[in-house]
This record gives sequence, structure tokens and C-alpha cells, in this order.
Amino acid sequence: MMGLASDGGLMVPQSIPDVSDKCASWKRLSYEALAFEVMRPFISDLPESVLKNIIEKSYSTFEDPLIAPVRSLDNLHVLELFHGPTLAFKDIALQFLGNLFDFVLEKTNSNLNILGATSGDTGGAAIAGIKGKKRINIFVLYPEGKTSRLQERQMTTIIEDNVHNICLNGSFDDCQSLMKSVFSDLSFRKKYNLGAVNSVNWVRILAQIVYYFHAWNQLDCPSNFDVAVPTGNFGNIFAGYVAKQMGLPIRHLILATNSNDILARFFNSGDYSRTDVNFSESPAMDIQVASNFERYLFYQLDKSSTKVSQVMEDFKVTGTVSLKSSWSEQDRTFLAGAASDMETINTIRYFHDQYNYLIDPHTAVGISVAQRIHQKDLPLLCLSTAHPAKFDRAMKAALPNEIVQHPILSRLEGLPERKHSMEVDENSVKSYIVSRAI
Ligand SMILES: *Cc1c(COP(=O)(O)O)cnc(C)c1O
Repeated sequence: MMGLASDGGLMVPQSIPDVSDKCASWKRLSYEALAFEVMRPFISDLPESVLKNIIEKSYSTFEDPLIAPVRSLDNLHVLELFHGPTLAFKDIALQFLGNLFDFVLEKTNSNLNILGATSGDTGGAAIAGIKGKKRINIFVLYPEGKTSRLQERQMTTIIEDNVHNICLNGSFDDCQSLMKSVFSDLSFRKKYNLGAVNSVNWVRILAQIVYYFHAWNQLDCPSNFDVAVPTGNFGNIFAGYVAKQMGLPIRHLILATNSNDILARFFNSGDYSRTDVNFSESPAMDIQVASNFERYLFYQLDKSSTKVSQVMEDFKVTGTVSLKSSWSEQDRTFLAGAASDMETINTIRYFHDQYNYLIDPHTAVGISVAQRIHQKDLPLLCLSTAHPAKFDRAMKAALPNEIVQHPILSRLEGLPERKHSMEVDENSVKSYIVSRAI
């Protein structure tokens, strides 16, 4: 529940269970039953019936009976991860996280104040996971006018006592750095029980491992397969990396970025250097420094925390790291590439014209890169991370004659909204938190 470790590092499990001799027998399990099997070996301190209940409750809010169905279009299989309450894959982890935290806080008779920053999808999904929970308050910082109106409405129309939307007159980077400075005030953090819900939190990775197994089942358990993942903070794809370590027969993880291609450059040349953020048609991936990459480094640097700290420290200072020489062995799991906005838009159009199937711009980045580098000898699974209606600007650019809607989003129009606007100022944000904290 602490999110970050007290030294600022990320948490990883002590060991990763090997389930390779079990997963074939999970073939007929429902999503919920499978989630129980996959997560149980990582969770030793909750009674089984409690974990089962939390899982049931978390996925009862999804509108597809399969939770995450696979749609097959010729040889390409799309795993639809957007059937939760806010239509982005983040619901899969954040619904579970909200219910899990709720249970633990009740049991330990304690409270939590969550502070998050969002450029769009995380805020809405976190609020949907936390709203109405008695022992948790959530404060979300977002940049005025920089999220889409749809994404803003998904946050501001939730009028619940424990939900506090803080709209800052600044950029997303301002929101994120303000959040970090509040967290680094350790006495404030402790006094108000501050918690984090972005993908540095291990619970998010844990819940995301499940759907890699679920997709493999729906493909009839092939002896090997490849998975393409559109990537921002390296969270979703890192969950796939853990699934592979658990014994799921993934051959390649195809990492796809937009023009913010630091990770693609790294996997292709070993060069990990930060540049400025570009604004693209897939805004949830407009990220330069992927927080979960640190977890991957841990496995590549002989599971040595000391080596990871050294690399992270160097990177912080110089903005660049070359890792090829310290690699324990060449990792052949990842293939990587980047897609431009033009390729993204063309891919959306192609899937509409060819299959009458709509994909959102993030999914299109993944599919576009996969089509370029996949070897076609094994089944290809592409993760679809959002419903296309969430990204109406890109959809309009690709398909000017289509109206792409979803009732969940249309219903928000005209609803009353609540937000608190302020300048980018740490003391104002802190005093607001103090006035509302539980
Ligand atoms: C958050 C998000 C991503 C990126 O996921 P990471 O786990 O940060 O790699 C991709 N697509 C959509 C729609 C998202 O909301």
C-alpha cells in the first residue's frame, strides 16, 4: 500500500512463482477464477475467500461477460481491455486496487489519502475505483485544458465526498512534479497517510498479469505466441514480462511507442536517453521516462538493488545511460519499434475499411509496429488499451465521416461538474489536502 519504497525505489516480489505446469489446466476458468489462481501465489496474507470476493466485486463492473474478450481479425488477435467503467485498460487494475485497499484499511482501522496526477486516463480510472469508499480520499491533479473534455468529465462529474479534482493552471509536468514534491515532504506524507495509485504501485502490475493468461486461453493455449503492447510507463508490458517469467509461453513482447520513443531506441540500440516530450495522437503514451522500466532493470542487472540504484542515479543526473556493457545477457524477449501519428491514423483507417472494426490510437500504435516487425510464424496478440470513443480527435482525423460514440461517455454530457481550480503552488495544494484529508 505504500506505493514507493521509503528510499524512493519500486517494489518487486521476493520471487516469481513458476506456474508452467498448472496453466494448461486453467483453460476453462472464468476471468475471475483465473485471476484468483494467478494472483494467489503473490498474496500470502489474505484469506482465500477474501481474495475471491474482492476479485468478484472488482470485475462485476465490467460490461462484457468475458471481461477482456479476444476478437480475431484474420491472423491478428485483439485483446479488448476497455470494457470497464472508464473504457480504458487501467480499470482492470484500479477497480481491484480500490476494493483491495478498502478491505485492508477496514481491517486495520486506518485511512488513506491518495494523491495522483493525470494527463487523462489514470485520473478517471482511479476515481472510478475509489469513489464512495469510506476510508479513502482521492485528490487528482490535472492540467487545465490539457486533457480532453471527455476525460475531464469522467473525473469532474463524480460528485462524491471522497473525490477531489484539482485543476491546475499549468502543464502535466507541473502536476507531476508538484505531486512528487508533496510526496517527498516525508513528515507531510506520514501525517496525512498519503498513498499513490499510479503504476509504480505493484498491485497494478499484479492485476494486469492475469489477462495475458486469459488471452492465451482464448487462443486455445498455443505452444508459443507473440504479444504486442502499446507502451507509455512500461507498466502493461512489464506485466507481460512477469507472465512470461511465470511460465506463460510468450516468445516475443513487441514494445510499441509513439514518437516518444526512448524505450524503442533502448531495445534497438542500448541507448537510453531522455529528450523533450512530443504531443501525439496517443496522449496516454506521451511519456519520456517510463517508471516501470526500473523494475525491468532489476531483472537484467542480476537482481541487484545496488546496481539498479546506481543506474537510476546516473540517469537522473545525466539524462542518459548506456547499458549494453552491464547486461547480464542479451535479452531476446523484447522487439521494439515506434509509430508516427501518420502511421497511427492510417492504421485506424485500414482496420475500419478492411474489417469494419474500430481501434483507438494507442491500440493502433501497437498494431502498426507489430505489423512491421512480427515474423508471422506464430499467433500474434495485440493489446487494445482503450475504447476508440475516448479519443474522438484522432478518430475524426482518421475517419471524418464516422461518429464514434459510447453511451457511458455520452451520458456525461451536461451533468453537473465539480472541480477546484488553483495555481501551480505547493502550499495551496497542501492546504487544500489538509482541509479535506481523512
Ligand atoms: C495508460 C495507457 C497506456 C500506457 O500504458 P503503460 O502501462 O503506461 O505502458 C496505453 N494506452 C492507453 C489508452 C492508456 O490509458
